[in-house]
Amino acid sequence: EGHWLVHLRAASIGDQYVVIMAEDRSQQHRTEAIRHDFVANVSHELKTPVGAMSLLAEAIEDAADDPEAVRHFASRLTIESMRLAALVQDVISLSRLQGRDIVETAEPLDITRLVSEAIDRVRTEASARDISIHSRHPEPLSVYGDHDQLMAAIRNLIDNAVTYSPDGSTVWVEVTKHDDVVHIAVSDQGSGIAEEDRERIFERFYRVDSARSRSTGGTGLGLSIVKHTVSNHGGEVMVESVVDEGSTFLIRLPALDPEAHEAATEGTEP
Ligand code: ADP
Repeated sequence: EGHWLVHLRAASIGDQYVVIMAEDRSQQHRTEAIRHDFVANVSHELKTPVGAMSLLAEAIEDAADDPEAVRHFASRLTIESMRLAALVQDVISLSRLQGRDIVETAEPLDITRLVSEAIDRVRTEASARDISIHSRHPEPLSVYGDHDQLMAAIRNLIDNAVTYSPDGSTVWVEVTKHDDVVHIAVSDQGSGIAEEDRERIFERFYRVDSARSRSTGGTGLGLSIVKHTVSNHGGEVMVESVVDEGSTFLIRLPALDPEAHEAATEGTEP
């Protein structure tokens, strides 16, 4: 910030003119620094599940004569390996999204339907904790985007709303249009997020309460993936929250004109 990294090259043309070329390398320099940080963080985060897995494997060896203990350690080993798999998956998703500002696989999408599908995928887990998910979408709406990426981003917000809410509470998901912008709002009655954390939760691996987040199986990359996905789609994500009352995450995406959607998908949908 505030620094410029400029490469200068000079060439002479004949004996009367000198051409000086200046190339701004500051962006490239910043990108390299971010990548370096990311690799350092990933290595650190990988050590936790890998360390736990090797301890559990040792415990299984030592407990070979006690089938009950072996079962116990083996099931914890499975949990740690799932956590590791989730972390690797998130790191891959994020590194694919970073530094890419166009969505190459975009197509016209019925965002109302996509949000309903996202809710259906979270419902079982929510109802196990007696959390009900209410949704409201007054009209069918379309956006231009990548189905799987937007599904993952919206699911992430709904997953978080459920994870950070008390049993028996309610989560609301609302899809509306304001001028030419589609709003997808996910609200919960959970713990809320303090003001000083609100900006930082979108950073990679930032967690308000790392012990709690780890025990819920989170990787700390979810919101960072959401932010990159949404900005690659020309939109933005923001949060409003009151501590101990709840949070609302809002994704704003450029709306696709319904006629354009119809023309683009003509004959391809049943
Ligand atoms: P995690 O895998 O830890 O959930 P995220 O990037 O999805 O990672 O979220 C980062 C942090 O933001 C979480 O660890 C949690 O502290 C906080 N957070 C996210 N969503 C909510 C929410 N709906 N209510 C309260 N806190 C939240």
